[in-house]
Amino acid sequence: MRHVTRGWERTAYRTRLCGDLRASDSGSEVRLAGWVHRVRDLGGLVFIDLRDRSGVVQVACRPGSLEPAALAAARKVGEESVIAVRGRVVRRPESAVNPELPTGEVEVEATELLVLSAAATPPIPVAAGPGAGLPAEELRLAYRYLDLRRPELLANFVVRHGLCAVVREVLSSLGFLEVETPLLTRPTPEGARDYLVPSRTHRGEFYALPQSPQLYKQILMVAGFDRYFQIARCLRDEDLRHDRQPEFTQVDVEMSFVAEDDVFAVAETLLPRVWKELAGVEVEIPFARIPYREVVETHASDKPDLRIPWPVRDLTAVLEACEFRLFRNVAAAAGRIRGFAASGAASLSRRELDALDGVAREAGAGGALWLKWAGGEASGPFAKHLNDGQRTGLLERAEAKDGDVVVVVAGADAETAPALDALRRHLATVLRVVDAQAHRFAWVTEFALFERERETGRILPARHPFTSPLPEDVPLLESDPLAVRARAYDLVYNGNEIGSGSIRMHDPALQKRVFRAFGLSDEEAEQRFGFLLEALRYGAPPHGGFALGLDRMAMLLAGAGSLRDVIAFPKTTAARALMEGAPAPADEAALKELSIQIVQERSHV
Ligand code: ASP
Repeated sequence: MRHVTRGWERTAYRTRLCGDLRASDSGSEVRLAGWVHRVRDLGGLVFIDLRDRSGVVQVACRPGSLEPAALAAARKVGEESVIAVRGRVVRRPESAVNPELPTGEVEVEATELLVLSAAATPPIPVAAGPGAGLPAEELRLAYRYLDLRRPELLANFVVRHGLCAVVREVLSSLGFLEVETPLLTRPTPEGARDYLVPSRTHRGEFYALPQSPQLYKQILMVAGFDRYFQIARCLRDEDLRHDRQPEFTQVDVEMSFVAEDDVFAVAETLLPRVWKELAGVEVEIPFARIPYREVVETHASDKPDLRIPWPVRDLTAVLEACEFRLFRNVAAAAGRIRGFAASGAASLSRRELDALDGVAREAGAGGALWLKWAGGEASGPFAKHLNDGQRTGLLERAEAKDGDVVVVVAGADAETAPALDALRRHLATVLRVVDAQAHRFAWVTEFALFERERETGRILPARHPFTSPLPEDVPLLESDPLAVRARAYDLVYNGNEIGSGSIRMHDPALQKRVFRAFGLSDEEAEQRFGFLLEALRYGAPPHGGFALGLDRMAMLLAGAGSLRDVIAFPKTTAARALMEGAPAPADEAALKELSIQIVQERSHV
C-alpha cells in the first residue's frame, strides 16, 4: 500500500506480519499473531495457515520444537481462533514450495503457541477463497465481521482507502480545503425523501439528515473558502432499488469563480490519477463532452458506454412506407423506428437473434425486430416486406455492412430508448466488442432543468433546484420551462454514471425565478431556503462543483460485484442493518421525551 511507514507491525504481540515473510527472512526469529485460516493435522505434525491483514503464512507445529501442551492446543484449535506464535522462519523444501502464496517459499517453525481467543465454528467460510460458493447474503451481513475477514473482501477496502488517499492528496494539491458540514440539518432536496431526526429540546421540530452537503458547500463559497471538498456521507430515504444504499459516500467538490471548463479540469486531473494509481491505467483527457440531446439520440441513454461502436439511427423515414404494418402504425401514432447495426452479429444463431425480442421486452418496450444482412441477402422477420429501395435505404441509414444485423425497435421514445440501450449492451457483451482494457469517460451536458413528474403532471427540477439555467435559455423560464437547459453535467465511465454536478445560481433574483418556475412561491422559498437567498444577498461568487460516487468508484476499481462489497457495514435492499439490527423500536421513555406516539402498526419489511 502507498505511504505506509514500516514499523507499525511491531506491537506487544508480534514482531512481523504474516504476509511479509520471504525467503530472505530465513533464519530470523519472529513473533506473529493472527487468525487460524486453516489447520491440517498430519498425525505428528500440524500445519496452521496463520492470517493477518497482510496475508497468510504457514506455521509448522512439530513435536520436537513445541511443548506437548502447545502442540495439543495447535491440534485442537478451531479455524478463525486468534493465536500468537513464536518461531523461526525456515525455507520450505523445494517440493513443498507454494507458488500461489507470496510467503510460499517459507514456513515458520513454531517454538511457542498461545491461543488468545478461541473461535466458535464460523458460519462464514472465511478461507474458502474467491469463486467459492458463499452463504446467503443475509447470513454474510449478519456476521459481517467474519465476512470482512475474507481476504477478497478486505482487498476492496484497501482499494477504497487508496481512493480516499488519492482524492485527499490531489484535491489538496489543487488548493481545495477539506471541510466537514453538519449531519443534523435543514432539508436539502436532491429529489429523495429525507431521513428526519426529532428534536428533544424543541418538541415537534425535526432535523433532516443531509441528502447532500449542497447548500453548505454553496454557502462556503459565499464565505470565501474558494475551493472546498469533503468525503461526505449522504442519506436518502428512497425505495431501494437493486444496488442502492440509503447512506452512501460522495467526493463532494465546490469551486468559486468558475465555469464548466474549470470544473471539468479538476475532475480530469483527479480521475486519471485515481485510475493510474489504483488500476494502473492511463486515462485519456480531456473526457468527451456530449450534450444530453445528442447522447440520447445516438446512444439511447444518458449513460453512454463509449466502448460500444454502434450509433443508434432514426429509421422512421426509410421504414414507415414499407409493407410491414407495425412500422406504419408506429409512424402514424407519431412514434419512431430506431435501430443500430450490430457488426458481425450475422454470426449469431437464429435463437440468439430471436432472444433479442425478450431483451427489449424486459426493458419495457413492445419487442425488437432484426434484419440480417449476409452474403448480399437480407433475412429476418420483416425482410420480405421491404422492396429493394427500402432495403438499401435501411442498410445505408443504419450504416450496416455485410455480416451485420440491424436491430430495430419501434414506438414512443420513452419506451424504445431503454430497450435500444439494453440491446446495445447485450449484443456488445455477446459479441465481445467491448474492450475490457478501455477506460472511456464522458461528460454529458445540457440536461433539461425541469421535468414533468409522471404521477402529478407537475413541473419539478430535474436535479436539485440550485442548478443554473443556460444563459440563452433564461428567457424561457416563464414561457416554456421544460425547454430550459441546465448548466448541469454528469460524468459517465464505461456506461456507469459516477458523478454529477452543475454551475449554480449566485444571483438571488435568478434563483427566485427558478423557484417560481416550478411553483415555489416567494413565501415558500423564503421559508425553505431563506438562509440561502439571504446569503446570496451578501456578495456571492459565481460557483459550481460536482459530486462523485465514492462507493461506485471503489466498486468499479476493485472489480467488486456490488456496492455492498465496498461498504463496510451496508444495509440490505430493504434498508435494514442485519448485524446490529436497525432500525429498531425505540423505548417508550425515549419516545415520550420526544412527544412521539406510534399510531400505526410497525411494518415488517
Ligand atoms: N449535490 C449534487 C448531488 O449530490 C452534486 C452537485 O451538484 O454537486 O448529486
